[in-house]
Amino acid sequence: MKISEILNPNRVSFSLEVFPPKIGSEIDKMDDILDSLAELHPDFISVTCGASGSTARTTPAVCQKILDRGMTPLAHMTCVSASREGIADCANQLHDMGVENILALRGDIPEVPVVSDSERYTYASDLVAALMEDGRFCVGGACYPDGHIEAANKDSDLDALKIKADAGCSFLTTQMFFDNDVLYSFMYRALRKDIRVPILAGIMPATNARQFARSCQLSGTAMPPRLRSILDKFGDNPAAMRQAAIVYASEQIIDLVANGVQGIHLYTMNRPSIAAAILKNVKSVLGR
Ligand code: FAD
Repeated sequence: MKISEILNPNRVSFSLEVFPPKIGSEIDKMDDILDSLAELHPDFISVTCGASGSTARTTPAVCQKILDRGMTPLAHMTCVSASREGIADCANQLHDMGVENILALRGDIPEVPVVSDSERYTYASDLVAALMEDGRFCVGGACYPDGHIEAANKDSDLDALKIKADAGCSFLTTQMFFDNDVLYSFMYRALRKDIRVPILAGIMPATNARQFARSCQLSGTAMPPRLRSILDKFGDNPAAMRQAAIVYASEQIIDLVANGVQGIHLYTMNRPSIAAAILKNVKSVLGR
């Protein structure tokens, strides 16, 4: 099913994200993860893809496993290290499998270019436009409440987002954020740029303190003092950190739904038990 048919302003969507194993031979490890996630009845499950093409083969394989379980996959597709021809081949493969949704991404720029500039799409908006011309997919894009790390400022980032939305995105999924006011401010400024596509709030449970601090630094995501205190206090105590992260993410979701956010997208980090614990806390809030 196309995600554009799933999203409905009168109902909060609930979706999940998994990442495929880097080594293709480990693909069967996804079976248990997906069986557990299926029990949460997500509206769709997104499957990440390596910018360098490291998971280019396993992303479709994980999408197939999602389809086999009667669920809707959203395949991530990055264009920074792929030729236009390679992208077209990948789109054909996904379509032949029955995948109807693609999250069109640029990906992080590699230190050593994999394909020449003339062979590839420059921005995610170029990939969105190409997939819209293809016409077979529902296409989404990424957005950044704290601003993309390379953007000169939040305003120019939103100008670029407007180009991407106008290229044909049916929805936008946010980068993780930990202060809901940052998202509300972002959504308000997006509306002022006339960006009107549904924005799905990306929620990351901060269960692993060290890994989490690093990914905040790399992505330019601000860490509010309340979360910093939690990491300082419980970072070396995995059980306490897990519990605090589940409560923090649950509280974030309750506030987001209370303030009218249309969709919650949970970064599961391939740990179904954490996604299940969060959903248990917010099931009625999500109207499930
Ligand atoms: P773009 O939208 O192209 O933006 C990149 C930068 O260029 C921004 O600074 C933007 O302001 C600027 N820009 C864009 N268009 C223009 C323009 N027309 N003119 C001038 N400037 C412009 N990475 C992966 O490798 N694999 C994944 O599976 C993956 N999944 C992700 C899922 C989500 C929800 C998010 C938020 C990110 C994900 N990423 C993933 C990370 C993403 O690839 C990086 O953040 C990357 O650096 C930017 O990708 P983008 O698609 O947002 O790029």
